[in-house]
Amino acid sequence: MATETFHQSLWSALTPAAEPMPPLVGDVSSDIVVVGAGFLGLSTALHMAEGGAKVVLLEADEPGFGASGRNTGFVVPSLKTAFGPADVRGLLGEAGDRLTALVGQSGNAVFDLIRRYAIDCSAEQTGWLQPAHTAALQRILEQRQRDWATLGRRVEILSREETAEKIGASGYHGALLDPTGGQINPLAYARGLARATMAQGVGIYAGSRVQQVTRADGKWMAVTDKGRVRADRMLLTTNALVDKLYPAVADAIIPVRVHQIASQHFGEADQASILHGRSPVADTRRHTFAVRWSPDGRLVTGGLVMPGPMPLERATRYFSKRLENIFPALGRIRAEHVWSGVIAATLDSMPRFMSLEPGLDAAIGCNGRGIALTTSLGRAIAGLYSGTLAVGEFPLPHKPPQPVPGKLVAQYGPAFWLPWSNLRDSLESGAGLAAS
Ligand SMILES: Cc1cc2nc3c(=O)[nH]c(=O)nc-3n(C[C@H](O)[C@H](O)[C@H](O)COP(=O)(O)OP(=O)(O)OC[C@H]3O[C@@H](n4cnc5c(N)ncnc54)[C@H](O)[C@@H]3O)c2cc1C
Repeated sequence: MATETFHQSLWSALTPAAEPMPPLVGDVSSDIVVVGAGFLGLSTALHMAEGGAKVVLLEADEPGFGASGRNTGFVVPSLKTAFGPADVRGLLGEAGDRLTALVGQSGNAVFDLIRRYAIDCSAEQTGWLQPAHTAALQRILEQRQRDWATLGRRVEILSREETAEKIGASGYHGALLDPTGGQINPLAYARGLARATMAQGVGIYAGSRVQQVTRADGKWMAVTDKGRVRADRMLLTTNALVDKLYPAVADAIIPVRVHQIASQHFGEADQASILHGRSPVADTRRHTFAVRWSPDGRLVTGGLVMPGPMPLERATRYFSKRLENIFPALGRIRAEHVWSGVIAATLDSMPRFMSLEPGLDAAIGCNGRGIALTTSLGRAIAGLYSGTLAVGEFPLPHKPPQPVPGKLVAQYGPAFWLPWSNLRDSLESGAGLAAS
């Protein structure tokens, strides 16, 4: 079992504490109650309150406690690499075109929101860089560039040489650079969003785990150990931490634990030697190599480790070594922060907007691309609920949850998937991906 690591993360060390938020005590009522204060719950609550709705947001721990406060902080205006607009349409029907459009503007949506509410979260819109580890994937990235151009959006394709120069590592076949992406301190973004949301009049109650969801007299009721919220509508944005609250939601996703490390601090000369332009990098490998500079000059990276004892120790060794291999000029890597979080994955990598019962929905499954997507999706859900967005304009189908077939097998899938993926990735990359 991995230990709880929220307070061990680099982001916890760098981010000023959240302002005190009391737990829910007694009975309150609202137009809508949102359960779970990650980016998705916060963005939905904020945008609903901007539209004039009375909103209560209940959080089991504190805003950003889930994946939102523990991730790598990449603002990625893209779904999975393999998915072009036609594939997304194939999976979601007409809603797929709207999801593609939403994703296309999602990088700017994050940075605009940060500017609008003056959120201090080390935001850097330096572009998101996706290098291709095979020639075939470089061709897919080139197709993505044409897809975006057709939709009126400009992303750049970098040559092999330009990519090596930008990353400071050779072996990639080229890259896609999306100038609307970038990086943030995710916990500072979550806490800043919470502050903005409260300023709009939303009651956020921390330390208020919803234990039961019931319906009485035509209203939905969220029950915590000390209080109750009655509302016309309820939205669950609990992500992978849904646990036993609503089993049909838990059955529709696969929880995947992802580990992160942050290295020692590097001086200015080392910082200037790799990741030029400070674009965060996430390559096309199955087990993605993702790396960025933190605001205080550390390298942050991570990924999956095999289930088993001492996962933090194994993550430390594996991801430090991987950095040393790719950037040998930096010398020995010492992980000074190690932590983990859980992603809600879906088999097709698409997010879900679930209709559970009349007036009760769940939004979940942003997989590993959740900062930009959740921010924009929250705004779309607020639009739908407040009537400014018609059902036919919403970017996802609104359907009852479908259980993941063979959930037990799927849950242990990463144990088989990981060694296979690492092997395929290294065979495909050849001896490349060394420092340039
Ligand atoms: C290690 C890691 C790295 C990642 N890196 C990136 C990245 O670089 N870029 C990117 O775009 N995405 C990344 N992701 C994915 C991204 O973080 C998620 O998709 C996104 O944060 C999900 O947001 P959310 O609001 O849906 O869920 P969460 O942030 O998980 O929030 C759910 C909240 O619900 C609360 N909750 C649960 N049950 C209850 C209950 N019963 N009552 C009250 N509250 C409850 C939890 O405490 C939690 O705060 C990463 C994820 C991980 C784990």
